[in-house]
Amino acid sequence: MLDTLGNLKRTGYCGALRAADADKEVVLMGWVQRRRDLGQLIFIDLRDRAGIAQIVFNKELDPEAHKKAEELRSEYVVAVEGKVVRRQKANPEIATGEVEVIAARVHILNNAKTPPFQVEDEVNAAEETRLRYRYLDLRRRKPHANIELRHKILFEMRKTLDELGFFEIETPMLTRSTPEGARDYLVPSRVHHGQFYALPQSPQIFKQILMISGMDRYFQIVKCFRDEDLRADRQPEFTQLDLEMSFPRQQDIFEVIERVMVRALEVVGVKAERPFRHLDYKEALRRFGSDKPDLRFGMELHDVTEHFEAARATFGFAGNVQAVAAPGAAAWSRRQLDELAEFAKSAGARGVYTAKVTAEGISSGLEKTFGAEGLNKLAAAVGAKAGDLIVAAAAKEQIEHSDTSLGVAGQIRLFLGDKLGLIDRTKWEFAWITGFALFEWSAHEKRWVSAQHPFTGIVEEDLDKLETAPWECRSKGYDLVLNGVELGSGSIRIHRQDIQARMFKALGLDEETARKRFGFFLDALTYGTPPHGGIALGLDRVTMLLAGEKSIREVIAFPKTTAAQDLMADSPSGVDPGQLWELSINVIQPSYSLNCRCGGTVRVWAESISTHGREPYILCPKTKFAVYLPPGLGWYKAEHTDNEGKTETASFVV
Ligand code: ASP
Repeated sequence: MLDTLGNLKRTGYCGALRAADADKEVVLMGWVQRRRDLGQLIFIDLRDRAGIAQIVFNKELDPEAHKKAEELRSEYVVAVEGKVVRRQKANPEIATGEVEVIAARVHILNNAKTPPFQVEDEVNAAEETRLRYRYLDLRRRKPHANIELRHKILFEMRKTLDELGFFEIETPMLTRSTPEGARDYLVPSRVHHGQFYALPQSPQIFKQILMISGMDRYFQIVKCFRDEDLRADRQPEFTQLDLEMSFPRQQDIFEVIERVMVRALEVVGVKAERPFRHLDYKEALRRFGSDKPDLRFGMELHDVTEHFEAARATFGFAGNVQAVAAPGAAAWSRRQLDELAEFAKSAGARGVYTAKVTAEGISSGLEKTFGAEGLNKLAAAVGAKAGDLIVAAAAKEQIEHSDTSLGVAGQIRLFLGDKLGLIDRTKWEFAWITGFALFEWSAHEKRWVSAQHPFTGIVEEDLDKLETAPWECRSKGYDLVLNGVELGSGSIRIHRQDIQARMFKALGLDEETARKRFGFFLDALTYGTPPHGGIALGLDRVTMLLAGEKSIREVIAFPKTTAAQDLMADSPSGVDPGQLWELSINVIQPSYSLNCRCGGTVRVWAESISTHGREPYILCPKTKFAVYLPPGLGWYKAEHTDNEGKTETASFVV
């Protein structure tokens, strides 16, 4: 028989009990974390949001309560009435460790099935199980602390922005496609057959329209939706701190965000310095091999191409060569060097060349080609000292107009920084990255695409190159980086309709398409648009960094897996045929289903248009064997499911 809560009132949190509470009569409520039965005495750890309190049931003192305590199991929900006493021997491991509660009465408010994993600080349950039973996982201390921290950070941001005169304004979730470069999530309209809303990839157009509406300072903590391939730090829905200001200079936006971030860091007791440093995009790439450099350590890159020039033919590499001097790594073992070479390869290096600098001289396989003198010059060029390992690399892949060796060396720098313990984990290094190009060439689409999005402003002096030399146009965009993580980006916008129209054209959108997709926005721009600009920060990432977590899933209450599934709610899921009928939606079944050598299957959705006799095939990701698809396909999507049921959209070639 379960008890009722009745008129019982909790006196406080279990986790809040301290020595000063000794002798008080209390009523505590929570979950049974653990029960230890010593016969005469039963101990339970009672858990609530604030922590754990030890409850003691004494057979001699309170036989009735003791008897009832025998029924208690993990995760039962109980209320305990009793008296706080000092423990004979304090437990320094827990905050309430100086006291315990002698129970006079216990009310069993609810029972619980045996949980699939013990709700404790350290769980070894697979992440899949934790996500499926997220409500149990969230009862643990760390997820609890992360959610609390998230609340505090967001609350502090809201307070700061309110103080700075920003209004929080909601923008629609059911809207139309905005071009942030990802695929949209679509929502079918029941009323307008065959038409769809798009979930916003960001409130970009709406926030700009709010500036046209004279709102002056807008912000919103907002969900954004992008249907992209997921990685550890991506989710199909994620939260941004989105803001926009009218009549701003770039430094005005920077100042607002710096104040917001300094206050957010205060939440975890970190004092960050303002103003944040500025780095030009090209300089960041040249010195750190990344547009989101981790500035918590040095070990900058050196271009040593000229030193390797004579060896180019022997080593057979193309492009430039970058090198770093890794302090202390001259002592690395064969195994460590192999690991480095392996990593460099996976980072896209053509080859990695190393030289050990010691007090006795430089030893390296490069000596045959370089000579002792050449090695000395190389060491001088990278500023290597005794004890350092010179690590040089060229990129395997070359892309026109860009130096791919920088990105490769940038990753090697991070690898070495981590392995050598050079990253000072107590540091919080912010940087504004500016000086981006407005466009980048998409080899895939064979056209210039926005490096950020098409509303990003153009440096005035470059305006006349918009049609003639788009690659030379500089953008008014900026990124905010913290400890090697891109927190967000923004820009001063285009606020003139004529320039916005030219911009769409430069992006290959003809007037008709531009009007169809953004006509309402182009119109709005003609009715007195103030100069404006803004930014959006990824709040999942901000919280992840401040919580010291490695994955954003740890700071989201109900995250999705990398396969974009919610394992707890079991979504996405099929729907009633009636619902589809109402929406006039017909789910296309795969046109073909073929067997694969790996024991799995390939499903193909296709429209029947000829591929001119060429036979398309899909490569099995497991066996790398080709599965030939029936010819005569127009657009098609193929999905490979292996023999373990793992599904991926595989690459295939016509
Ligand atoms: N809307 C942009 C984004 O989500 C940010 C901005 O330009 O404000 O990336």
